[in-house]
Amino acid sequence: MAIIDIQVPDIGDFAEVAIIEVLVQPGDTIKAEQSLITVESDKASMEIPSSHAGVVKELKVKLGDKIAEGSVVLTLEVAGAGAAVQAAAPAPAAPVAAAAGQKTSPVTIPQAPESINPVASSFAGTADVECDVLVLGGGPGGYSAAFRAADLGLKVVLVERYAQLGGVCLNVGCIPSKALLHVAAVMDEVSHLSAAGIDFGAPTVNVDTLRGHKEKVIGKLTGGLAAMAKMRKVTTVRGYGAFVGANHIEVEETTGTGQEKTGSKKVIAFQKAIIAAGSQAVRLPFMPDDPRVVDSTGALALKEVPKRMLILGGGIIGLEMGTVYSTLGARLDVVEMMDGLMQGADRDLVKIWQKMNAKRFDNIMLKTKTVGAKATPEGIEVTFAPAEEGGTAPAPQVYDLVLQAVGRTPNGKKIAAEKAGVAVTDRGFINVDIQMRTNVPHIFAIGDIVGQPMLAHKAVHEAHVAAEVIAGELQGNKELAAAAFNARVIPSVAYTDPEVAWVGLTEDQAKAQGIKVKKGLFPWTASGRAIANGRDEGVTKLLFDDSPEAHGHGKILGGGIVGTHAGDMIGEIALAIEMGADAVDIGKTIHPHPTLGESIGMAAEIAHGSCTDVPPARK
Ligand code: FAD
Repeated sequence: MAIIDIQVPDIGDFAEVAIIEVLVQPGDTIKAEQSLITVESDKASMEIPSSHAGVVKELKVKLGDKIAEGSVVLTLEVAGAGAAVQAAAPAPAAPVAAAAGQKTSPVTIPQAPESINPVASSFAGTADVECDVLVLGGGPGGYSAAFRAADLGLKVVLVERYAQLGGVCLNVGCIPSKALLHVAAVMDEVSHLSAAGIDFGAPTVNVDTLRGHKEKVIGKLTGGLAAMAKMRKVTTVRGYGAFVGANHIEVEETTGTGQEKTGSKKVIAFQKAIIAAGSQAVRLPFMPDDPRVVDSTGALALKEVPKRMLILGGGIIGLEMGTVYSTLGARLDVVEMMDGLMQGADRDLVKIWQKMNAKRFDNIMLKTKTVGAKATPEGIEVTFAPAEEGGTAPAPQVYDLVLQAVGRTPNGKKIAAEKAGVAVTDRGFINVDIQMRTNVPHIFAIGDIVGQPMLAHKAVHEAHVAAEVIAGELQGNKELAAAAFNARVIPSVAYTDPEVAWVGLTEDQAKAQGIKVKKGLFPWTASGRAIANGRDEGVTKLLFDDSPEAHGHGKILGGGIVGTHAGDMIGEIALAIEMGADAVDIGKTIHPHPTLGESIGMAAEIAHGSCTDVPPARK
């Protein structure tokens, strides 16, 4: 037996070509002339065959890599006479039809600076459990990957340190925050009804019952997940997982409601793994260890309603929690280093949100840093400094509750990834390609741990890609094995009151990047439904390509909505972008009347010049 390199043969005039499909994997027995990878240039696609028969030892390339003649594709274990061969003579490449339905991904999966790939440890012990796919982490990414892989016929083990599946999203994120935000929205809505002659009087708030309501919502969903895991025969293992080799993970059992370790350990052997270990809230180092200083998890625990609350960080999570606490009676301050709240959304949308919410805040401190905090009997005394040279900062303030909402950090450095050979960046992210594959070809990563935006719907989409690629590779199904993260856009929503939602290119980005767009902006003051609801402060905005190449029929590039239920409507704009719709496609789609969703059709008509629900455009 000998190990030889299989190289890219003469591929004609092409200096560099991109790999669009990897057709084999380590462990495969292949014949001479069998196709190994498909590459694509701007002119043609071709399959690169193997010059020898043998067993694939190691893939030296991955999807998306650029290769040229002489690049090593893989190492192959060959029998007998090949023993002395170092580099096999490459066989010629075979052109194929362009891969059907391939589209490049305009959503860039952020890649952190290159890290040096660690060398995997070799695990010499015996495994307690064996599986096709090991999924580490039971959040939206992990459970979706596990369920999809099981539905595709694979033997799956799902490792989660907490008693309930669902991760941050179901237990301490998306769902509990929305359960509380719904209650807050109804309270605010009811208070507006006095203008329509209906008065319920001032609400009385029972925080314990409200907390119980939120817990019930969580329990319903996490209980449902446990049942679905059973139905799919996904083995869930409770415990803290850490890699001990490239194909083994050790799980230390945890118990109780937290992650208390019992000392009992189990080793799981896997063919493929998906890392979905998520992220955790960033804690500022100078913050005192005091129950009056909380992160989003602490805020969701809803121990009591403070009189004065400081939100550190003017992003979505902080402002959502602030909305809840302020409706329940707290006065808010917010401190933000940047020059505006809710970064990422267009400023005109945020301005409307801010005007509607001004009454909740005593101070909105922009371009301001928090530089110190100390616990005193009266409260947490917080000190500020200007974020920019020459700026001014407010005097220290005392708060009953301080919410740290300054971002989340990935859990990449806590799973001994290096023992599996998986590279983790300095910040704890794991870089992946568009198939969610790490630098180790049989190990994938998804969700918050692979980068921004840290959103549950992104994690689920990535989960399905990883599970499909794995099933395709293990079952020899080329179509599944070619799955990739090809989404053009990922929507964002602030579930505040009003909601702010956006997707694709924003107007501010278009301006900054010099992209010429035609805007259709529909004010909700012209929406029958918004007026009937007593909530006509919103706007719906669509942006269409207005470059000369679009010849006046430009496709939609982005959109944003501020207004009640904006989050429920943004999906239509995302679909329009994915489908490459133009203003006529959207405007001529009959939207039901009277709905808030109609505002999307009307914004398109405004861009097109055919809207009859607003005054005529000035000639
Ligand atoms: P996680 O949900 O973090 O799950 C990772 C899981 O892995 C956890 O269960 C963890 O216990 C487990 N784990 C980690 N390490 C190990 C280990 N070594 N061994 C065993 N188990 C391990 N997103 C939205 O899309 N919409 C929203 O409205 C929204 N609201 C949010 C509100 C708040 C307050 C917060 C904090 C987040 C919110 N998010 C929202 C973000 C969303 O929760 C995350 O993007 C999502 O949960 C990421 O999913 P994930 O599977 O990557 O990771």
